[in-house]
Amino acid sequence: MRAAVLREYNADLSIEDVAIPECPENGVVLKVLACGVCRSDWHGWTGEHPRVKPGQIGGHEYCGEVVEAGPRATWKVGDVLVAPFILACGSCPACHSGHGNTCPNQRLPGFVEPGAFAEYVAVPYDHNLARLPEALTPTVAAGLGCRVTTAWHALTGRAALQPGEWLAVHGTGGVGLSAAILGRAMGARVIVVDVVQEKLDHAMGLGAEAAVNAREGATAARIKEITGGGAHVSVEALGIPETVNASIECLRPLGRHVQVGMPVGHTARMEINMNAVYMGNIAMIGTRGMPAWKYPSLLGLIESGMVDMTPLIAREVALSDVSAELRAFNGPTPPGVAVVTDFTR
Ligand SMILES: [Zn+2]
Ligand SMILES: [Zn+2]
Repeated sequence: MRAAVLREYNADLSIEDVAIPECPENGVVLKVLACGVCRSDWHGWTGEHPRVKPGQIGGHEYCGEVVEAGPRATWKVGDVLVAPFILACGSCPACHSGHGNTCPNQRLPGFVEPGAFAEYVAVPYDHNLARLPEALTPTVAAGLGCRVTTAWHALTGRAALQPGEWLAVHGTGGVGLSAAILGRAMGARVIVVDVVQEKLDHAMGLGAEAAVNAREGATAARIKEITGGGAHVSVEALGIPETVNASIECLRPLGRHVQVGMPVGHTARMEINMNAVYMGNIAMIGTRGMPAWKYPSLLGLIESGMVDMTPLIAREVALSDVSAELRAFNGPTPPGVAVVTDFTR
């Protein structure tokens, strides 16, 4: 099968012929119909991601059709499924308590196991997968990727966002834009922050109530002014010190900072304004991924038409275009997500 393989950090992926993966006994092999390209792939491509090594096939945001099912698989040949990026074991204390996204036995196609920048991907623990609703195309489903699922769990689970609350979103890339769209659907008042005016305009067109261009400075003060005292919930969706600090500092007392962006750099340590946390009685919330049992609520919301995720998809590309998409993350990016739908070249 054709696959895009990381051979050297920061260099073009190598389009190679590799063996079709073997079917896990507790899972399936999917023919990949679509796979999103994500900033997390970029972290792997640059060598910053601690677990991504040369030889890796990236791609963790996939929708595909079952072509082979193991003896203990939950799904059968022909099912069209979408997967969370974290595949939880389903049988440990974390999984039993509903927090499969923190499962210590988790499997990670695209980061550790071979991913879906390929014609086929093997998926163990297939109970994590969900059936593609009829209302969704594989392209949109793949575009939901880790970004919409992560944003959904961050807002509904971790931050417990309430209708009428102000939600600030720092960084309007895939996950930030998802948080803005979902926050609006949940009845929150959304304020978006970015350095790319085009992305702010895009988010305003999708229901954000206010936008702050961080290039103009004093981001936190301007959010406090617009919101009459600060946001109730602030989502950091980039992972760099500037946005983390702006997120903490833009909150009203007792506000909730939600760390959604993957912190960059090999150590991922940064200097933050801990006095603002202390004085403001701020809650610092980390979040990563979404337990698979939350798929029905998310997909149901989308299927109902209450929220439209199609504006998230910017373009469909071929496997050989992934390198250029990854390279684009080196700088500020235009709005929207690229999805691989052509695996023939
Ligand atoms: Zn588990
Ligand atoms: Zn992702």
